[in-house]
Formats: sequence, C-alpha cells, structure tokens
Amino acid sequence: HSSVVGLAKLPYQKRKRAERNGVNFTVMLVGESGLGKTTFLNTLFDSDILPIRKLNVPQLGNTMKTTQIEYHKMRLDEDGFVLDFTVIDTPGFSDYINNNYCWVPISNFIDEQFRKYIFQESQPQRERMKSTQVHACLYFIKPNLRGLSDLDIKVMKELSSRVNLIPIISKADAFNGTEMECFKESIRNTLCNEGINLCKLLADEGMENTILDTLPLSVIGSSSRVVNSLGNVVRGRSYKWGTVEVENEDHCDFIKLRSMLLSNNMLDLIKSTENYYEKYRSKLMKTQFL
Ligand code: GDP
Repeated sequence: HSSVVGLAKLPYQKRKRAERNGVNFTVMLVGESGLGKTTFLNTLFDSDILPIRKLNVPQLGNTMKTTQIEYHKMRLDEDGFVLDFTVIDTPGFSDYINNNYCWVPISNFIDEQFRKYIFQESQPQRERMKSTQVHACLYFIKPNLRGLSDLDIKVMKELSSRVNLIPIISKADAFNGTEMECFKESIRNTLCNEGINLCKLLADEGMENTILDTLPLSVIGSSSRVVNSLGNVVRGRSYKWGTVEVENEDHCDFIKLRSMLLSNNMLDLIKSTENYYEKYRSKLMKTQFL
C-alpha cells in the first residue's frame, strides 16, 4: 500500500511526532447495505481489503436480528512510517424489518471503547495504554432527492455526540452537478435544524479547515480502471454514455475525503476524539458519584 497514506504531506513537526510513535487510526463505516461502503474502502486503498458481501434481503423471520460489529485491521508502512489502520464495519445496519434501535449496538460499541480506556487510565501501570477509540465515523447517505430519512437523522444525532461524524453521499454518479449541490444544501439545512454537529477538527494554527464547510462529501467507488473521454486510464465506472471518475474533482469529492482521512487531517481527527472521550468520562464520573 505504498504512497497511499500521503504522510509526506504532513507538516514536519507532526510527521516527526507521528513517525516516532506510530499511528493507530480507526474509522467506522455506517450505512444501509448496498450503499457502496465496501467498494469505497477498497477504492481508498486501491486494493480488495474488504470482501464484497451479498446484499442482505430483509426476511420476516429476522425481526430480532440487528447490527453487527466487524473489525478489519491492516498495517500500512510508508517510508518507515507505520500506520495501524482499523476499519469497523457494521453489517446488518437498517437491513431488517424492525430497524428500531439498530444504531444501539454501534453507540454501545463506541462507549465501550471509552470505558476500556478509562479502565486502563485507572491502573497503576499506564505505560502501555492502548486506545481502541473510533476516530472518525463515515455515515453513508443514500443519493435520493428526498433528503435524509428519519432513521438517518436519529442515527446521526446519536453518533454525533460520541464521535467525529463525517456524512458521505455515496454513488455520487446518481446526480448531476446541480442536483448534487441542492442535495448537499438540503442535508446541511436538516443537520443544522436538527442540531447535529459534525466533526470539529482540533486543527493546529494556520491549518485550513475549509473542508468542513463542504460536508457532506460525495464519493464514487470503483477499483476498476476505465478509459476516460481523453483516452486516459483512470479509476472509475464506465457506462454506455461515458465514464465517471473517482479521482476527478468535477465528478466527486473522493480526493478531498482521502486527503482528509489519510493525510491532512488524520492526526487532527485523532486529537479531536479526546473531546468526545473527556465528555463521556466526565458524564460517567458524575453519574458514579451522584
Ligand atoms: P455495501 O453493502 O455498502 O458495502 O455496498 P457495496 O460496496 O457492496 O456496493 C453495493 C453495489 O453498489 C455494488 O454493486 C457496487 O459495485 C455498487 N457501487 C459501489 N459504489 C458505487 C458508486 O459510486 N456508484 C454506483 N453507481 N455504484 C456503486
């Protein structure tokens, strides 16, 4: 996976610090099945990291089934810089007839990682503390002009109080440019009206954070190569009428998202997770001592 992470782009001080300690980065994928989460992740690393699974067809007998939590770990080594990357997939989310509380296993999982860290902090030996906290949660939104569903709103509310939440519009090729802008605007309005706060990066001085104003980000997933209209071989999807390109900024925000996650803002996402941890910790302490 060489040169995927793009750490050469990190500011010098950050790169040095990160090189010394190694980096442990955990991203969670949440969204209905079939929205392209697996394909996106494989596109991000340009290899088949997650297996494509069959679509889950809701079954009447399955009303008690709910979301599962699955780990996929990988180690990336770029010029001596070691990144331990963990993907947490949530198969089954919203796939069943009864989706009431389908986010509960996800929010419980996030809270449990906080509790594990609190436990380690209270031990006499604290040199080898290991954090399993989730640093970013990508929430995949279905590209349809009706906007966010009630379930999307409920889940995003729950998650945004616990984790850096990054909304993603998957399958961006479903919209033309104007439709995409309208869709993004309507999502931003809904999020604002519902009081849902997206990730806030604890950026260092001088860091550009304009990317946050452009959320939600749209992505096109594909690990295949196609020939575009200029005759270049690119990653994209090919249709009878033409091609859509993953790494073309006129077609989607994949490049922005990749640089946010894997180079420009990775360390900021890790740092800002401390805020959520502190919030959880103080809430827990208050309830314990009441
Ligand atoms: P998951 O269930 O959310 O992990 O979804 P998958 O990654 O398995 O994708 C489901 C289907 O959507 C597959 O047939 C993919 O090829 C297709 N798909 C993934 N990304 C895109 C995209 O950006 N555009 C379109 N049109 N299809 C996509």
